[in-house]
Amino acid sequence: MRGAKLKYSKILTKELLKRLYWDELMSHSEIAEKLGVYPGIVSRYMKRLNIKTRTFEEGNKIKQPKFSKILTKELLRRLYCEVELTTREIAERMGATVSTVCRYMKKRGIKSRTPSEAKRGKRHPMYGKHPSRETKRKKSIVQMGERNSFYGKNHSEETKRRISEATAGENNANWRGGTSNLPYNYDWRTTSEIIRKRDDHVCQYCGSNGNCVHHIDGHQQHDDHWNLITLCNYCNSKEQYNRHNWLPYFYCIVKDPPPLDVLSDAMGVDITNSARVSGECQ
Ligand SMILES: [Zn+2]
Repeated sequence: MRGAKLKYSKILTKELLKRLYWDELMSHSEIAEKLGVYPGIVSRYMKRLNIKTRTFEEGNKIKQPKFSKILTKELLRRLYCEVELTTREIAERMGATVSTVCRYMKKRGIKSRTPSEAKRGKRHPMYGKHPSRETKRKKSIVQMGERNSFYGKNHSEETKRRISEATAGENNANWRGGTSNLPYNYDWRTTSEIIRKRDDHVCQYCGSNGNCVHHIDGHQQHDDHWNLITLCNYCNSKEQYNRHNWLPYFYCIVKDPPPLDVLSDAMGVDITNSARVSGECQ
């Protein structure tokens, strides 16, 4: 303890403190930071060495003109709107408090981001992260049934109509150029029965009982056996979204293997000359 005290008294001399506090107009905490000591120790030594502290008004006079010169509209706009720093980050860079930065933003007429804007893109807490299957499952359980915020509520007819209009036809994320309106081939019943038998009435994805025969490339009239696969109801409905991700996978597991050029297209890799890949897929 004694050693520590001696050390401080060597560092915190009256001359140095006076110079920093009265000539360079630094605050207690700024001096503390500069000298690598606690702010409380600076205050204590100032008192002990009879160094007069600034009155509240004197302090304000020093601070206010300083930030009003630094935090110009141009600078704030650049840091906040272009570089997209947060008010906290600006405050840290400028040596100000967050509330000072916010006050000047308001004064300069810079609109702050709404909570949803503040979480967009790289600023989103989940940006670049991918929750595991287990996490997704837990999240879904938490929102099930009565716990769901929409539980027991219904959309009004007007809302339903608007949702339906906004996601109909070409506005739909899964729009594939109107192919879903095409009729099935006349012998679809026979073909689909052959495929079900080939796959033992088992969903080729999850292994449960399955009776849906699915066109892997999404074209109802494309009845090559390598383009058809048996799925259960659940997997079939899942597949309707993210078709592009499923397509290469299904081509790899379907019992009648597709031609190599089709597989190459689906996987985005030319494998027409490599026999190795067909072995990997099975
Ligand atoms: Zn399934």
